[in-house]
Amino acid sequence: MNAKTPDTPIVIIGAGPAGMAAALALHTVGHTPILLERYREARPAGNILNLWPPPIKALQEMGVDTDDLGAPCHTTFRGVKGNIRADVQIPDDVVKAYGGGFIGLLRPELYRRMLAAMPEGVLRPDVEVTAIEDLGPTVRVSLRDGSSIDAAAVVGADGIDSMVRRLLWGPSERREHKLHIIGGYTFADVPGVERNEVVLRHDRTVQGTYSSIRDNGRDGIQWWVLEAWNPKAEPPADLKSHALSLARRFPGPLAALVDSTDQKHFQRWPIRDRKPLKRWSKGRITLAGDAAHATSPYAAYGAGMSIGDGYTLAQELTGVDLTDAAAVVAALGRYDDRRIAHTTAQVQQAYVLGKVFHHAPAPLRPVRDFILDKTPMLQKQVGEKSPAEIVAQLDEMGAGLVRA
Ligand SMILES: Cc1cc2nc3c(=O)[nH]c(=O)nc-3n(C[C@H](O)[C@H](O)[C@H](O)COP(=O)(O)OP(=O)(O)OC[C@H]3O[C@@H](n4cnc5c(N)ncnc54)[C@H](O)[C@@H]3O)c2cc1C
Repeated sequence: MNAKTPDTPIVIIGAGPAGMAAALALHTVGHTPILLERYREARPAGNILNLWPPPIKALQEMGVDTDDLGAPCHTTFRGVKGNIRADVQIPDDVVKAYGGGFIGLLRPELYRRMLAAMPEGVLRPDVEVTAIEDLGPTVRVSLRDGSSIDAAAVVGADGIDSMVRRLLWGPSERREHKLHIIGGYTFADVPGVERNEVVLRHDRTVQGTYSSIRDNGRDGIQWWVLEAWNPKAEPPADLKSHALSLARRFPGPLAALVDSTDQKHFQRWPIRDRKPLKRWSKGRITLAGDAAHATSPYAAYGAGMSIGDGYTLAQELTGVDLTDAAAVVAALGRYDDRRIAHTTAQVQQAYVLGKVFHHAPAPLRPVRDFILDKTPMLQKQVGEKSPAEIVAQLDEMGAGLVRA
């Protein structure tokens, strides 16, 4: 029996960051991925993005060009008056090795770079998966046009409303954070901007942030404002004037950045996730990305973790004989073991931060802000512990991706 069974494909459902990463990584280690996307093209559902070092390492191992992909940024959490509450510490050697500790970019550029690395024929756009069935030796993937593909394994990278997650683990409620975020970007030269910084401020109820980006060799700024919002309520009628009214609560250039943003570069997202799962994989089927761990943008890490999933999955499937059901199940089990604790901690931390900053009862807000301003609590959690956990992933990721 051929050890790698190159003709038996691994089918990946969904060409977002998770699916593209899984396809690239599985191809790199010698498997035959097929990446199915229901839309006519793999297209980003948003504009602004930041990436930590682990996804940069993963992208490099998958053959993606990360040179000048984004603007290197140092991050501080600040109070409304500008006082530093937490300085996000990423070791200098990591900053040096990965082109910055945390980079700001635009999502379409990430897609363009990942697609440029995709081998011919792997991505099949305009193909919607309607059902999957584990037949034992293979998984049958049924398509909207009535045809089907028999796969050696299936990766559900089909986003927050994942059909694959539902089929494997049953229905689950979306967890509404009762928050929304409005964001955008501009290349205008606005005075007073701190370059190569993520300037993240909170007042009593609102977050207002801006950060450097690089896009196709151009320097710009992305910004966002975040506040409590009833998910059943209508969105603000005029996004720009609403975002401006929030940005004006903060000193510095935030309001001018919002004002200089083209209407077509404004976006709004209600924030929601799903409670993390205890297992992702069952038989020959597994999950990746938001399907496995939808995450609030408070983590700025949902896409980053999605890319890490594909990398780890490919490492665990390296050299595995896909005709050997027990070997495939064991590999997927190891993938679960390596990814679930880390991603669950990040999802939960992002959920809690949203609650602390935007849903604290009014009488408690001065107490909360006193603690944030005067004690090292936020520094310990988001300045030191959380980035240390993310950076520790670089070691956990091991030697890289090697063709079997
Ligand atoms: C405002 C905002 C800011 C964010 N900022 C950051 C950040 O700074 N850093 C970061 O790392 N993350 C960030 N995130 C999170 C990040 O965007 C997501 O975690 C990431 O896009 C998830 O990728 P994915 O591939 O799992 O899912 P998706 O991007 O949702 O892709 C799923 C794909 O599956 C396809 N699909 C679904 N069903 C089927 C089917 N049946 N058949 C075929 N195709 C199907 C869909 O069309 C889609 O293309 C942010 C999110 C938001 C909302």
